[in-house]
Amino acid sequence: MSTTYLIKNASVLGGDPQDLLLRDGIIAEAGALGPVPGTVVIDAGGLIALPGLVDLHTHLREPGREDAETVDTGTQAAALGGFTAVHAMANTDPVADTAGVVEQVWRLGREAGHCDVFPIGAVTVGLAGERLAELGAMADSAARVRVFSDDGKCVSDANLMRRALEYVKAFDGVIAQHAQEPRLTEGAQMNEGELSGVLGLTGWPAVAEEAIIARDILLAAHTKSRLHVCHVSTAGSVELIRWAKSKGYPVTAEVTPHHLILTEDLVRSYDPIYKVNPPLRTAADVEALRAGLADGTIDAVATDHAPHPQEDKDCEWAAAAMGMLGLETALSVVQRTMVDSGLMSWADVADRMSVRPAAIGQVDDLHGRPLAVGEPANLVLVDPNAKRTVDRTGLASLSQNTPYQGMELPGAVVATFLRGTATVLDGKLA
Ligand SMILES: [Zn+2]
Repeated sequence: MSTTYLIKNASVLGGDPQDLLLRDGIIAEAGALGPVPGTVVIDAGGLIALPGLVDLHTHLREPGREDAETVDTGTQAAALGGFTAVHAMANTDPVADTAGVVEQVWRLGREAGHCDVFPIGAVTVGLAGERLAELGAMADSAARVRVFSDDGKCVSDANLMRRALEYVKAFDGVIAQHAQEPRLTEGAQMNEGELSGVLGLTGWPAVAEEAIIARDILLAAHTKSRLHVCHVSTAGSVELIRWAKSKGYPVTAEVTPHHLILTEDLVRSYDPIYKVNPPLRTAADVEALRAGLADGTIDAVATDHAPHPQEDKDCEWAAAAMGMLGLETALSVVQRTMVDSGLMSWADVADRMSVRPAAIGQVDDLHGRPLAVGEPANLVLVDPNAKRTVDRTGLASLSQNTPYQGMELPGAVVATFLRGTATVLDGKLA
């Protein structure tokens, strides 16, 4: 028999304290509950209860780069970050472009058991951008793939993008686009602007992102099929998505935690820890991204957790790999930039980090549910008053490429529950 938990005095979505009884995988009772025999009692006074977080954009690196991350270590990091579900990106080796590979990742996730793993399927064979992968076979597989992406690369061929959008309509899938016009970003190393000139690094213009987003919005409107825009990083992109939504087009978007807090000024250090795709942008972009997330133009925060071994970052800027860790710090960064700044409530955080990502990924029968009686007991308890200094050597991820090393961040995940089973207790893996 699984453990029954009685959570006392949790502030659900930041509201009045209440008790939650987790039994047999669901929230069995809620309200002001008396003692329940045979339960483990958790004093959640001062803690916020949120639905388990859902990440639309995680790189778990398995199969192929188990030196950077495995499904097991990556999902440990996810649970410690308050996540009960992650969508695993397809740019593995081999690429997740067949039913066989997505089922392998899905099975590894189930075996690890730290959170649900929903594989993302590649849009094109081998991410080569030349012909469509077996989207239908992946959708029909045991992994039930609904999100497709060539992330890391852009589906730059307009006709392929159109056909992919048309294809996934059959099973209400979504194409998650990494918006990067390849010809406009050849050799690009950082955001294009005054600073790239000063530093002598090849610029990565905002228009390279915005041109693809504009095109894809029109294709989504034309095909009446769902487009999701990965890691939006510029003010202009936010404006385009705001326009698409005003027209009622089926377009959603995500922003990463790092694009909500870090700016291109960090590149002055030439420290490759800050090298990421899309690049860190300007303070004005950061402000527009925060505003877009707050007003709902941007639907979701997605980590783009991108582990890299030390040797791929301990080198000169031009040679270094692009990407940053994100799972174990995402909620803290969102608390600092969005909640502590007064831009969003904890209910908004639940919406942008659980409810809407679950809906976009078509897993909202299991995740992003209300914390109410009869619902799956997928939830996280957060101490908003805790402070911690990020120590890259103390992370569960196999890699250490966090951009927040030594930084003090607010908030701490105290406990995470997946279908009523604790994956994290007292801030440690259960
Ligand atoms: Zn990407």
